[in-house]
Amino acid sequence: MEYCSLCGKGTERMIPKGDTHHRYVCSSCGKIHYSNPKIIVGSIPIWEKKKVLLCKRSIEPGFGLWTLPSGFMENHESAEEGAIRETREEARANIQIQNLHTIYSIPHLSQVYLLFSSILMDSNFSPGEETLEVKLFGKDEIPWDQIAFSSVAFSLRHIWDKNREQIEDKPERTVYSGCFIKSDQKEESESIKKAKLNRPISS
Ligand SMILES: [Zn+2]
Repeated sequence: MEYCSLCGKGTERMIPKGDTHHRYVCSSCGKIHYSNPKIIVGSIPIWEKKKVLLCKRSIEPGFGLWTLPSGFMENHESAEEGAIRETREEARANIQIQNLHTIYSIPHLSQVYLLFSSILMDSNFSPGEETLEVKLFGKDEIPWDQIAFSSVAFSLRHIWDKNREQIEDKPERTVYSGCFIKSDQKEESESIKKAKLNRPISS
């Protein structure tokens, strides 16, 4: 940020007193311009405990690849509301949120994904503006080589109940936490862990 959004004067990149990170600080009015990670919220819409709803993207990044309905959280909404909204926008689908299923961090992009397992309420779904196609996939039908984002692949890998066909109905309030490590783009972090929601997420 070259110019201050408050007064329009030039900014300077520096560590403000008492801070730990470089910030853009206005050299005139002193406003500190913080830049923090973006939160992406989305749903894992599950149909009759066996299939999951995916959207084929009509926009970049990931044009023509499959994703869970998700997008940037808006101001003044809860994470759950954002997930429901994104699912309506991208898949024109109605869901009921069950619980937080995935926390996935992408530090080099400063992004955090929050994906909620959800019940797909009916089969009235269709492509939204950013979607080419919406489709239900069973466990053996997931197009693993055509998944748009590592966060989505991570989440999908963890929705089925162990090696059974059925998607976890009562997932014991398990949250799956993953992290994309840039130095090794083939695999997610080994810090993947399960955590119970009613306990602190420990490392
Ligand atoms: Zn200023």
